[in-house]
Amino acid sequence: MTYLLNAPADFASHALHGYAAAHPGHVTLAHGGVVRSTATPVGQPALVIGGGSGHYPAFAGWVGPGMGHGAPCGNIFSSPSASQVYSVSRSAENGGGVILGFGNYAGDVLHFGQAAEKLRAEGIDVRIIRVSDDIASGPADQHRNRRGIAGDLVVFKIAGAAIEAGADLDEAERVAWKANDATRSFGVAFEGCTLPGAEEALFHVPDGQMAVGLGIHGEPGIREVPLGTAADVADLLLDGVLEEEPDRTDGGYRGRVGLVLNGLGTVKYEELFVVYGRVAEQLAARGCTVVAPEVGEHVTSLDMAGLSLTVVFLDDELEEYWLAPADTPAFRRTASAPAGEPRTTLHVPGEDPIPEASEQSQRTAQRIVGALEVLRDAASEHEAEFGRLDAVAGDGDHGQGMAFGTRGAAAAGAAAAGKGAGARTVLLHAGDAWAEEAGGTSGALWGAALTAAGGVFDDDNAAGPRDVVDALMAGIDAVARLGGARPGDKTMIDAALPFRDVLVREFDATGDLAGSVQAAAAAAREAAEATASITSRLGRSRILGEKSLGTPDPGAYSFAVLMDALGAALRSAADPLDAP
Ligand code: ADP
Ligand code: MG
Repeated sequence: MTYLLNAPADFASHALHGYAAAHPGHVTLAHGGVVRSTATPVGQPALVIGGGSGHYPAFAGWVGPGMGHGAPCGNIFSSPSASQVYSVSRSAENGGGVILGFGNYAGDVLHFGQAAEKLRAEGIDVRIIRVSDDIASGPADQHRNRRGIAGDLVVFKIAGAAIEAGADLDEAERVAWKANDATRSFGVAFEGCTLPGAEEALFHVPDGQMAVGLGIHGEPGIREVPLGTAADVADLLLDGVLEEEPDRTDGGYRGRVGLVLNGLGTVKYEELFVVYGRVAEQLAARGCTVVAPEVGEHVTSLDMAGLSLTVVFLDDELEEYWLAPADTPAFRRTASAPAGEPRTTLHVPGEDPIPEASEQSQRTAQRIVGALEVLRDAASEHEAEFGRLDAVAGDGDHGQGMAFGTRGAAAAGAAAAGKGAGARTVLLHAGDAWAEEAGGTSGALWGAALTAAGGVFDDDNAAGPRDVVDALMAGIDAVARLGGARPGDKTMIDAALPFRDVLVREFDATGDLAGSVQAAAAAAREAAEATASITSRLGRSRILGEKSLGTPDPGAYSFAVLMDALGAALRSAADPLDAP
């Protein structure tokens, strides 16, 4: 639906006024639409492209050097009137004649046709290009009778480039028809669009279905089929347009295609990219090369949920014009920078060479992996609880973050140890993986903690209980340094600092590692619970700080739970670490 409007009947004209106000360097309002705000050379044909409103960026968004000279803009989904087309054409024309370009719909054919008559009567040469790319709207042998959808972009881009390159009216007309004849589109919709001010969508698609062969004026598809995965949708669209792929041996087409994957209004860019990933893969598998693909919203239909795929089968001429520079508010291409050599090096996590390690350090590394597995099991056991705590004033992802982070750390540590890594290297790999898998604030902090702990060890010497205490301290110091939290900010630090104090005190007094970790974990638990009585001053939850009152800080709590589990595991192990 449309949330922002002044009066439904004026929606299109208000939008056009605002658009022109936003792009004064490109367009000027003319009667019935917009024209370029900069003068064009005398004798240059004027490409006047238009149709109903509700399709932005089509058509007004494409006025500027390298594309349209003017755009008459009708009401929502209805053709501009003949007088609008005439007026915009008169404003845009500069002695080179006019090409009227529009999608092939009855209303547009009549209004643009009538305007053409009038212009011709005044001695202005006019040519008409009806874009007809939609394969769902007619048989292949009647391509020029089909209706026009997102192929508008391709045809007008190419025609505009030809004109910019110096084509006269005959030549520009020839190139435009050639582009139209080489362009195929196919779309699907998941839900219809709603006219501004209306309550109800123009059509609905039943849940779990999609309408294949949609139009861009709220016409429903030609049939409904079950909605599959993004890959299924990609395959459906691609199979459709490639059914009419020309022979690669004649006519200059060699498998190179320009492409538009077009969102109709409410399909997210991310969704389009998910689909495009598959399209690109499939085109490559068929030996096609995609040239300058456009993935985004180009020819919309208000808030229609749907997408369409357009391909243009390129020969050298069409490719040159498809790639040529254009500068319009909604579509820009710059002259391509000289290409460098293709990149040959990419860093792949976990594939750095593992430094050689002594047997003693490898044994320590194994124990560290065991400890990481203890943390992993504790985090997954408490995942839901951590999540609930974080949902009170944060974003609810702390359980998932800790579960993913510990799982990644344990797996990466085990993988490194399996390749002969020593204690230091295992912790460095584990720290990277924790930060990467967990994401979020706590993931970054725990990742840094493991990395700092790794710095206490090396890959040669044996390690003893004192090293473990030093490593835990180094980890906590890193969290404090990196996070910058102070006691009372209601973060992990509120549990980690008391833990650190008790750990050092107990270990200095007793030399008993397991006992010291257990005592420190108990102190951490108590301190974590005490954070319930303070409000958050740092991290995501500070925004809703007051709301956090009465609930312990999730990161402080999870720290205590993990250290509890570590203490218990050390206690039950016969020999937590080789004595030095
Ligand atoms: P995110 O806040 O990115 O969603 P998580 O939900 O996984 O990350 O972790 C939230 C926890 O991170 C908080 O409960 C808090 O303990 C901890 N935290 C946030 N900011 C800091 C900081 N600057 N220093 C220490 N801990 C912090
Ligand atoms: Mg969170």
